[in-house]
Amino acid sequence: MEKIWSGFYKKNINERLEVIEQADILSEEYLSVLRNNEVLDFDMANNMVENVIGTFSLPFSVVPNFIVDNKEYVVPFITEEPSVVAACSNAGKIVAKSGGFKTEVLDRKMIGHVALYNIANTVEAVERILQSKDLLLKTADEAYPSIVARGGGARDIEVKVLSEDGTDFVVVYLIVDTLEAMGANMLNTMLEALKFSLESLTEGVALMAILSNYATRSLVTAKCAIPFENLGENGEYLAKRIELASKFAKADVYRAATHNKGIFNGIDSVVIASGNDWRAIEASCQSYAAKDGKYQGLSTWRCDEEAKMLIGGITLPMPVASVGGSIGINPTVKVARGLLNNPDAKTLASILVSVGLAQNLAALKALVGDGIQKGHMKLHAKSLAILAGATNDNIELIVEELRKEKHMNLASAKKIVEKYNK
Ligand code: NDP
Repeated sequence: MEKIWSGFYKKNINERLEVIEQADILSEEYLSVLRNNEVLDFDMANNMVENVIGTFSLPFSVVPNFIVDNKEYVVPFITEEPSVVAACSNAGKIVAKSGGFKTEVLDRKMIGHVALYNIANTVEAVERILQSKDLLLKTADEAYPSIVARGGGARDIEVKVLSEDGTDFVVVYLIVDTLEAMGANMLNTMLEALKFSLESLTEGVALMAILSNYATRSLVTAKCAIPFENLGENGEYLAKRIELASKFAKADVYRAATHNKGIFNGIDSVVIASGNDWRAIEASCQSYAAKDGKYQGLSTWRCDEEAKMLIGGITLPMPVASVGGSIGINPTVKVARGLLNNPDAKTLASILVSVGLAQNLAALKALVGDGIQKGHMKLHAKSLAILAGATNDNIELIVEELRKEKHMNLASAKKIVEKYNK
């Protein structure tokens, strides 16, 4: 399979579509969506959100030969940022050569909470809630019977007393198996149904009832083990510096923010392609980065000197869905899911967490090696050339000339474009 993808990046769009056709991963219907560049229909868009005046496009790319749990994927990416796709392809190839990513879905449930205040005796209130657990779970299930009929539903209740600035809150956490859905609407419906019972049990007042995006019951781990030599000529040196970079991202919040941004260059691109709510995933993972009381880099890299390997790992909350929201609506999302062979929620989560680790490896390898500007500037030159007015016919020549300029900026690009467009 790897053969048909070789040189994919050098091909034009039609040739790339021919490779996708040859790979036999998309139906004729989905291939035609790509060939005709079909996008979200205006009427559909108008029914999805408010005040619609049009639709908005972004590049749709793929990262082929991406191996997760011994399966090969063609991963769809939606991103406007140059070099993200190239970087993930590069790291994906290194990991594929090293046996691919191995993942573990630790759990797949969602959490929501009802916060209550004005409670005279919080200790007794907590006791009464816990004594009524079965009844509360039944009330939650009765509020959303279809998920129960599918085999999911409310699973557990936990309670905490939290105090802030003189106010005590009794917080009731509901844990729900939402199966293939992300579950925001399911949780919110169930939680609102619990408000009345909780107010009478606590003799308090409900402040709000809402899903939490801190999805600590939807954790997924991805790992990889890369022989030093697969990192290139100076593989051992790079591996040791990647280990240091991983430590640095745990120590310094200024670095951690950028380290994690790099991870989400990949994850966000695939979450968007899959039709999932990327704000929810960002909120989940960014809050998880502060789980130990300090915001830290989300990945860990270490060298196994004996095995001569670089070992990478990352655990993230990844509550993505295969149904619900706008997943079945957008034609491009259907194609993107088709490329991944329509994964269920857990498989999609495993792919996403692996993409995050790959993206991180690519960034760290460049950072502790040549620095990231070398690769970046090449693609940046392309963006500058487009901005300066380069056309499809002359862009390659303009980019080549622009890269030789002392100052690679828009002014230089405009001068070169003028010369070509004379
Ligand atoms: P939906 O409200 O779309 O619910 C999922 C749908 O999928 C249900 O209609 C369900 O059918 C159907 N379904 C079909 N098969 C399955 C299956 N195997 N397992 C589970 N459901 C199945 O989506 P969610 O409740 O997941 O909510 C996600 C949306 O909520 C996103 O669009 C998100 O942007 C938004 N949102 C996010 C919030 C947040 O993150 N804080 C807050 C509020 C909204 P049936 O009803 O028959 O069971």
